[in-house]
Amino acid sequence: MSDTIEKVKCLIIGSGPAGYTAAIYASRANMDPVLYQGEQPGGQLTTTNDVENFPGYPEGITGPEMMMQLQKQAERFGTDVRHGWVSKVDFSGEVHKAWINGEKEIHADTVIISTGASAKYLGLPSEQKYLKLGGGVSACAVCDGFFYRNQEVVIVGAGDSACEEAHYLSKLCKKVTMLVRRDEFRASKIMANRVKNTENIEILFNTETEEVLGDGQLVNGVRVFNNKTNEKHDIEATGFFVAIGHKPNTDIFKGILDLDETGYIINAKPGTSKTNVEGVFVSGDAADHVYRQAITAAGTGCMAALDAERYLAAKDSDFEVATSTYN
Ligand code: NDP
Repeated sequence: MSDTIEKVKCLIIGSGPAGYTAAIYASRANMDPVLYQGEQPGGQLTTTNDVENFPGYPEGITGPEMMMQLQKQAERFGTDVRHGWVSKVDFSGEVHKAWINGEKEIHADTVIISTGASAKYLGLPSEQKYLKLGGGVSACAVCDGFFYRNQEVVIVGAGDSACEEAHYLSKLCKKVTMLVRRDEFRASKIMANRVKNTENIEILFNTETEEVLGDGQLVNGVRVFNNKTNEKHDIEATGFFVAIGHKPNTDIFKGILDLDETGYIINAKPGTSKTNVEGVFVSGDAADHVYRQAITAAGTGCMAALDAERYLAAKDSDFEVATSTYN
């Protein structure tokens, strides 16, 4: 073994609510977890302003603050939280290998994957500007819709997510304008029909976004164009929602773990966090294209740590299960 190889009982990849919750449980169970934060420490929540739907915060909390608190809580019980990202893995042998920043090699008895997913955005400079400012651009209606109560918003997308989110927003907002780039929905008929039949949702087909408008701090409109006629017009709106899909951050696991066609990790045994490789567990949005909430990610992080603990105990008679819930 070269000097650069480090042996750990539990390697956690990713630092969103799933990773930190797994870390809290794993460290309390004497698994001495090492957690690599990845390229966006704190994950998707660090791009969210206020989190008002995570139980335990009656006044709400900002996404970055919540992630700092979760990190502190994990560190309090001994998690070794490190900067750096896992650039390659090899799960073919009994020991699970991972390389950090393409250099350092780690051998782990158990691995918990919490690499999350990234919402796709249009990539327009004005969209990115107001996203970074927290000024009215969002990729999560369930998280942020509440801040636009009785206001007018625009949502981009034509899939099931866009329909679900448009419908959700329609219950909170005065008006929802939905921008569909083709002349038809991608969503299932039932979802599309629900949107079509909602009075305060206006659907603009063949319509794309040219620019998100604002006063430099907050969004106040959207300039759109019809891609058949090239006609442009401005829509008044205080919120700009993007619902054009998510990309799970699972590229390094391609060909190594079972992934679905979009790249989400497939649970080998539903109701657990197990992947198709023994000792490798998954939590959070890397395996969840349905719920995608901080609280569900945290819940599956807990499951992954408990599954990893049970796996270690079965493999190593010296390792005692610390969690009292096991029988
Ligand atoms: P999808 O990939 O299904 O849809 C993405 C949508 O975004 C498409 O309509 C696409 O347009 C549009 N889009 C992509 N890029 C752009 C762009 N640059 N400008 C404008 N529009 C763009 O993603 P979803 O997140 O909606 O769904 C992912 C999966 O999850 C699907 O399998 C879906 O069925 C499932 N799901 C199921 C739900 C349920 O059953 N309750 C709820 C939510 C999701 P175009 O059609 O022109 O390509």
